[in-house]
Amino acid sequence: MRQVRNNYIDGAWRPAEHCSEGYNPSDTSELIGRFAIAGAADVRDAVDAARKAFADWKESSPQQRADILDRAANMIAGRTQELATLLAREEGKTLPEAVAEVTKAAHTFRYFAGEAVRLAGASLRSVRKAVDVDVRREAVGVVGLITPWNFPFSIPAWKSAPALAYGNCVILKPSELTNAIAWELANILHEAGVPRGVFQMVMGSGDTGAALVSNPGVDAVSFTGSGLVGSMIAAQVIGRGARLQLELGGKNPLVVAEDADLEKAVDAAVRGAFYSTGQRCTASSRIIVDGAVHDDFVERLVDRTARLRIGHALDEASDIGPLVSAAQLRRVSGYAEAAPSDGARHAFGGRVLATPANGYYFEPAIFLDGNMHQNINREEVFGPIVSVFKAADFADALRLANATEFGLSAGIFTSSHAKARAFIRASNSGMVMVNLPTVGSDYHVPFGGRGASAYGPKEMGLGAIEFFTQTKTAYITD
Ligand code: NAD
Repeated sequence: MRQVRNNYIDGAWRPAEHCSEGYNPSDTSELIGRFAIAGAADVRDAVDAARKAFADWKESSPQQRADILDRAANMIAGRTQELATLLAREEGKTLPEAVAEVTKAAHTFRYFAGEAVRLAGASLRSVRKAVDVDVRREAVGVVGLITPWNFPFSIPAWKSAPALAYGNCVILKPSELTNAIAWELANILHEAGVPRGVFQMVMGSGDTGAALVSNPGVDAVSFTGSGLVGSMIAAQVIGRGARLQLELGGKNPLVVAEDADLEKAVDAAVRGAFYSTGQRCTASSRIIVDGAVHDDFVERLVDRTARLRIGHALDEASDIGPLVSAAQLRRVSGYAEAAPSDGARHAFGGRVLATPANGYYFEPAIFLDGNMHQNINREEVFGPIVSVFKAADFADALRLANATEFGLSAGIFTSSHAKARAFIRASNSGMVMVNLPTVGSDYHVPFGGRGASAYGPKEMGLGAIEFFTQTKTAYITD
């Protein structure tokens, strides 16, 4: 693709002085595209345009907003295969995974089209005589959305759809690694009829993001990404009194109790730890297995992992694609190399693969004798590396599951209703899975973590209204 994809500012595609190039991580000889890098002036113009547009957009009819979101949902659904192919080429997840992501984005837009007309407040009697109270929900204003590369279509969708549904103006700053698929989303919203200045997209790296979050015209920032960048953004945004939502990393435990169905538990562990090449915030990275079934579980896990096929994202035979970039490959393989010196016992994998050619391929890795002093268990690896812990008993498993500052997703495999309930009650995580992988979530319910995994209101479904609206309490009498 020779043509440069431009930023979308004030209802038009705007070129920039500098541009970046994106390459296919499955085969780096393939150029995905060239993309304009938004400079400080572009970001400023986008914020100014959004401020101007907000006056009308917050008064727009819920029907107008619903119609735009519904059109976007239909366009996405109608182009699923094409968009998923681009996503797989650009990010490296396999085509079925990309199809699932695009499908979820379409469902999200459709769900929030409905929510636009269902926006409800509350009506109460005052404690005073002859006074009524209305608690209304209103748009927050101009929102900056900063997104990562690992779900480069669905995360921009699940932030943009509620923001627009509730009458906010949006400036999206997608990851610099996945501009092509983000550009398609901007183009879909443009074609769906979003008014000038209401949705905008500025591409670029951290500098572009920093220009956006530090602009005082931005009323709220929703960020998904690493804890390091999240805390830098928090200092900026909270410092100037703006609203903030952070969705960060995880160190998600999967507990396998002695009464678990081991075949199902192994399947969930492999899907949760290794699919999407382990590049999911909800990936199972710590598998905590009751000592009574530990050896049997490990044998099955190694056997199943050894049969995974790692290859080009568009190859139908591939179970797992490449890592997203050379930097990710260096980072993830570095964790695998260092793990034994930290007392982790190597059980399988962890090699950088030379075939297929020209890609960032890495063999999923399993380490045993996990403990919470090891780096691979304290830090988010964000790749296909799993650590297996041997728990003395169920109480020990619960303790290990919670022995982390993170709290995104936690899973348990058990046939005991009592253990499942005890796990749900005891878990420090924002999402708990019973006899399901730690990955996978629905669009109509809150998504998000606790502790170091998140800050502010949850995303998605019933949760999104808390961040993307603000209440106004009106006292009324004659
Ligand atoms: P990252 O933090 O490196 O980048 C995220 C985004 O922030 C990118 O768009 C980047 O350009 C931008 N950015 C970088 N520096 C910035 C700055 N100083 N100011 C403003 N913006 C800046 O994360 P990543 O590598 O793209 O994504 C991986 C991370 O995302 C992992 O930690 C993963 O756990 C997390 N993640 C969390 C969730 C969740 O919902 N909890 C979902 C997906 C990914």
